[in-house]
Amino acid sequence: MVRAVVGANWGDEGKGKITDMLGQESDIIVRFQGGANAGHTIVNNYGKFALHTLPSGVFYGHTTSIIGNGVALNIPVLFRELQGIVDRKVPMPKLLVSDRAQIVMSYHILFDQLEEERLAGKSFGSTKSGIAPFYSDKYAKIGFQVSELFMDETELKEKIERVILQKNVLLEHLYHAQPLKTEEIFEELMSYKKMVEPYVCDVSSYLHEALKEGKNILLEGQLGTLKDPDHGIYPMVTSSSTLAAYGAIGAGIPPYEIKQVIAVCKAYSSAVGAGAFVSEIFGEEADELRNRGGDGGEYGATTGRPRRMGWFDCVASRYGCRLQGATDVAFTVLDVLGYLDEIPVCVGYEIDGKVTREFPATYLLGRAKPVYEILPGWKCDISGIRNYEDLPEKCRNYVEFVEKQLGFPITMVSNGPGRGDIIFRSTGA
Ligand code: GDP
Repeated sequence: MVRAVVGANWGDEGKGKITDMLGQESDIIVRFQGGANAGHTIVNNYGKFALHTLPSGVFYGHTTSIIGNGVALNIPVLFRELQGIVDRKVPMPKLLVSDRAQIVMSYHILFDQLEEERLAGKSFGSTKSGIAPFYSDKYAKIGFQVSELFMDETELKEKIERVILQKNVLLEHLYHAQPLKTEEIFEELMSYKKMVEPYVCDVSSYLHEALKEGKNILLEGQLGTLKDPDHGIYPMVTSSSTLAAYGAIGAGIPPYEIKQVIAVCKAYSSAVGAGAFVSEIFGEEADELRNRGGDGGEYGATTGRPRRMGWFDCVASRYGCRLQGATDVAFTVLDVLGYLDEIPVCVGYEIDGKVTREFPATYLLGRAKPVYEILPGWKCDISGIRNYEDLPEKCRNYVEFVEKQLGFPITMVSNGPGRGDIIFRSTGA
């Protein structure tokens, strides 16, 4: 059976923690999209880790961790990360890399940096990990697949020459930078070949067999619905689909195999990068939530950038869950809200004098003003509670209010960063 853990918001919802927790019951964990531009923070018995490329299952001895074909594979980052966890006494995980995954090249990172500099104030707030240039090349059919590392050297060099011809025009004439050289790119690819060779696998075929054997497979998404290139706040989105549906493509399995979609929603909002964020808050109110948020503050796991903060947004989250096809909602970081006397919840958007509950297309989002309902806070620490009934009544009311607004069942409530900080609920919307 296949399950997917995906984000219903802007990312940073706590997917890593939920994946790590569900990893206990999984045989295989697959990353199916995105690259090293975002990160998951995981706290377990080995310590606290920020993973960018490795699947969250790497901490378990019994799971196989897979980099699916949909991932933007930065090979040096992957192996640095692998070394980083092994150095901290985590046993060497069983890792497989899809032969169809494509490689993030050093020039993708370079182009990302150059383009952000060129756009200056109008930039997308890219993490400069090369993700947009990488996916552009993939779909322009000038990317390098892992499998191509093993092709005939002369053919590979010919391909490199073809690819860099185009790159060099841009480098020289748009960015006024040094051109790329075939030999250097070839050497770069050969160094990647050496690193990745022992892990290369026909992942789709491997998963096909695993499914026949009844194995439990967990698909791990990066970012969230609102960063999806089709359904998110385009163009302030990422360059690969963040939706569970894409999990089938990015892992190479039939879509009907995905039986459970766990949409992770954070009990308040945060976002990184530019773009409309209707329930955003500012000033001291935002600083306090940011500093108390997550595990040690809401700062980017990859970049350390302070995240933008806001109240829970039912309009965006309902849309986020719907596009993910949520069968379950994991409601995370609820413990953080225990300091508030009152908690505003965004229940509608006012656009040109009309209130809507539907998440609009980007051009209207800029004009949307949040409509809030104010719920009473519970004013105590709920960490350590394991039974839903033991939560303070006002806290349960918050959860149930949100669940009703979402129209999707909140079956898990996370009240701390650790693996065990979870409350399961059997009832739903
Ligand atoms: P991801 O990319 O969706 O995995 O999210 P991040 O790792 O960027 O952000 C989630 C942060 O919140 C991490 O630091 C987690 O350790 C932490 N976290 C996850 N769930 C909870 C929770 O229920 N309570 C608290 N306090 N922190 C949590």
